[in-house]
Amino acid sequence: MRTKRANDSLPGGIALVFSSRTSRLKITVDSMAEVTLTAPSRCPRERAVAFASEHSAWIESRREKQREILERIAEEYKAHDKKSPFLGGWIAIEGASEPFYRARAKEFFTAECAALAKRLNRTVKTVTIRDQTSRYGSCSSKGALSFSFRIMKAPLFAARYLAAHECSHLVHPNHSAAFWRCVENVCADYRSADRWIKQNSAFLRFDPQ
Ligand SMILES: [Zn+2]
Repeated sequence: MRTKRANDSLPGGIALVFSSRTSRLKITVDSMAEVTLTAPSRCPRERAVAFASEHSAWIESRREKQREILERIAEEYKAHDKKSPFLGGWIAIEGASEPFYRARAKEFFTAECAALAKRLNRTVKTVTIRDQTSRYGSCSSKGALSFSFRIMKAPLFAARYLAAHECSHLVHPNHSAAFWRCVENVCADYRSADRWIKQNSAFLRFDPQ
């Protein structure tokens, strides 16, 4: 068995990730302005360094754009006088504490998913709250649902959509047309909710100081 090549970092705070599933070099800048260069497992380090340097102008402009978004979010927190976002409003819990969001998320998704599962004639095995940042929810083949506590910072319609999305996977374990019809049946405004979540990743991931 081949051992996985250890990840590394490049000058300029770029994470270097080796992957056996890619044949090309690829750079991504995420919503928190973190830069990752994904390279094929056997790619020489010098090639990765050269690639990053060839694309340094692009990396900087993307990173700057994300930083501006993060600054605007920090301003938004300040404007709300240290309150914390919660299901579309701002509440007087200072510092957006994770235990608070976790407890509310557990209550919210347990109740929401129980009602949805009943409508869909399925059963929910467990509801677990995590800190997922790339996907905010998941559904296992055994009916175990999990959600990121961070979605409690989103408006109610977005949190409800996420519950509808994962519960629809209890019926369709894929993203087929039938799956999306099922989602639409239980959550009519799923399109705008999905868009909101995609466009507000930085807001959901942002932790105020
Ligand atoms: Zn899905």
